[in-house]
Amino acid sequence: MNEKTHLPSVDRLLQQLGELIETHGRQLVTGSTRAELAAAREGIKHGLPLPGEEALLAAIRLRAAGAARANLRPVFNLTGTVLHTNLGRAQLAEEAIALMVEAARAPCALEYDLASGGRGDRDDLVSALLAEIVAGGSPEIAATVVNNNAAAVLLTLNALAQGKEAVVSRGELVEIGGAFRIPDVMRRAQVRLHEIGTTNRTHAKDYAEAIGPKTALLMKVHTSNYAVTGFTKSVEEREIAGIAHDAGLPFVIDLGSGTLCDFAAYGLPAEPTPQQALAAGADIVTFSGDKLLGGPQAGLIVGRKDLIAKIKKNPLKRALRVGKTTLAALEATLRLYLDPDRLRQRLPTLRLLTRPTNEIEALGQRLLPAVQNALGSLAQVEVSPCSSQIGSGALPVERLPSAALCIRPPARRPGKVLLQIEAAFRGLPIPVIGYLRDDAYHLDLRCLEDKDEARFAAQLQSLKL
Ligand SMILES: *Cc1c(COP(=O)(O)O)cnc(C)c1O
Repeated sequence: MNEKTHLPSVDRLLQQLGELIETHGRQLVTGSTRAELAAAREGIKHGLPLPGEEALLAAIRLRAAGAARANLRPVFNLTGTVLHTNLGRAQLAEEAIALMVEAARAPCALEYDLASGGRGDRDDLVSALLAEIVAGGSPEIAATVVNNNAAAVLLTLNALAQGKEAVVSRGELVEIGGAFRIPDVMRRAQVRLHEIGTTNRTHAKDYAEAIGPKTALLMKVHTSNYAVTGFTKSVEEREIAGIAHDAGLPFVIDLGSGTLCDFAAYGLPAEPTPQQALAAGADIVTFSGDKLLGGPQAGLIVGRKDLIAKIKKNPLKRALRVGKTTLAALEATLRLYLDPDRLRQRLPTLRLLTRPTNEIEALGQRLLPAVQNALGSLAQVEVSPCSSQIGSGALPVERLPSAALCIRPPARRPGKVLLQIEAAFRGLPIPVIGYLRDDAYHLDLRCLEDKDEARFAAQLQSLKL
């Protein structure tokens, strides 16, 4: 034992941590013990008193619990952004979760044709379902699935236009966030970008005049995350399709979000669908699985059977394909669309986007006393109107009326207190993520469903301010 500090030995501490070892394993507990002893030694060096053995054991238990906790933790998304990319986008439907768990647990017929006993194709699990949903079951329509929509665009371009040109309007050369910029993706796909028109205006003749011997396809990119307003002109999909087809070329649309249902029917702002795009003459559409569709992270490529076959033969497809758990979640999510009457109730994304404002407000009133109680005199809490956004670049200018718990410190310059409050909510067992605006901390309650109300309220007592 070290004479100067008299800290107990690792072995001595471990002897008293049998139960903790039982829970977390010897290696983790030993590591936590060593780390806690090192921290104590460091503290003593800086003049802190020698900790007692009980205090040390308690600190080790706390440290071990922290180290054993998963890195990927559930949170309450009260940011007001329903499809928050940093918080995992769409929450899956229970049906999707169930099929995903089954696929994870046991062998499954991923690429195995149960009818013939021969080899199957993983895309067949969803291809006919997608054709049913987007094209009334047309036998001319097929689909393939990759890791995300960025991969879907990359693969489609490389498979259909490598070494040739793709014609795109300047107004659609978007950056989707992170490193997804259409010109960069084109380059990586080894496709030459042929820009036409101007930022605000592109005409039909621009498309027609751009077509030459090197042209492989015409492309339209849904400008998901921004809006150009004022003196603008873009060309109708039907017209671009006509120009492409007259020249014997395919017309590809990157839809981005690609909801599969009619948003207007749910009182939501209209968003273009793959159904409309294909009906307007698109040969291939690509869209995300975890944006408005409400499924797992995936990129869906849907369209003309012969083009899908060509895309699937591309070696990149193997590099970008998805696994069984993703396909299970996607299949189950797509099946929900076959029963539109119950879709809103079963698909969390749609349920959250269409949640009535008065329901959110009532939840706020119910939670208000508990939140005020947890904060004491540090801040004043009230329920105030706010607006949620859809997120993930979908419908960037549209807002959904919602209600928030608005937490306002009385101080004239509340910056520091606000950061303290924000950190305290983030530090809860199930971290709560809100947002700061106008000298107040806001918790938009749209995404706190009534079924989670009790869990949210129960943990407020561990709020550490
Ligand atoms: C979101 C989006 C993408 C990227 O999709 P991920 O699924 O995030 O890879 C590509 N294009 C458009 C138009 C988008 O909105």
